[in-house]
Amino acid sequence: MTDLHIFLEQALTLHNHLCPRQILGIRAGLYAAELLALELPQTDKRLYTFIETDGCFADGVAVATGCWLGHRTMRLMDYGKVAATFVDTQTERAIRIWPHPKARQQAICCIPNAQSRWHAQLEAYQIMPISELLCATEVHLNVSMQALISRPGVREKCAICGEEILNERETIVNGQTLCRSCADGGYYQIVESLITAKQD
Ligand SMILES: [Zn+2]
Ligand SMILES: [Zn+2]
Repeated sequence: MTDLHIFLEQALTLHNHLCPRQILGIRAGLYAAELLALELPQTDKRLYTFIETDGCFADGVAVATGCWLGHRTMRLMDYGKVAATFVDTQTERAIRIWPHPKARQQAICCIPNAQSRWHAQLEAYQIMPISELLCATEVHLNVSMQALISRPGVREKCAICGEEILNERETIVNGQTLCRSCADGGYYQIVESLITAKQD
């Protein structure tokens, strides 16, 4: 079995279905490793991925690269774009990969007898040459990998909510150490009293 087929099986197990975007994710991950000359799947945390949308593409990338949220080697930059930037954290070399603008059309030409466009893409994305499927460019990061990765064991306590803050994600406001949520308003508002007891 080729690498692609091994990863397709893993993706199928993880995701309960195979779809064109997962295949794009797997092939983008494999291509990134080739460009960065890294072996996949990684056993260390050398390769780091910024993924620009959640969903099927992200699972394909994760399966191929071994970059996962849980390993702190994948970060969602929620731009709603099927694209990812792959970083060799040892050299800080970074490559952004996204689908070729003509890949969809090309897939239909490639498998003319497919049941649907979706089926054509599912088949074609597995066999199309990289040059017709993906685009890649070297990029320079505007974020610090060192700050993102931070150091293990660093923890602070928010002066307002009292919850623990990991990985140096605290902000200092008027001399107080605060979590993002207390500092900026965050993405939620508390609507009712505690469901479970607060631990001190
Ligand atoms: Zn899917
Ligand atoms: Zn807080």
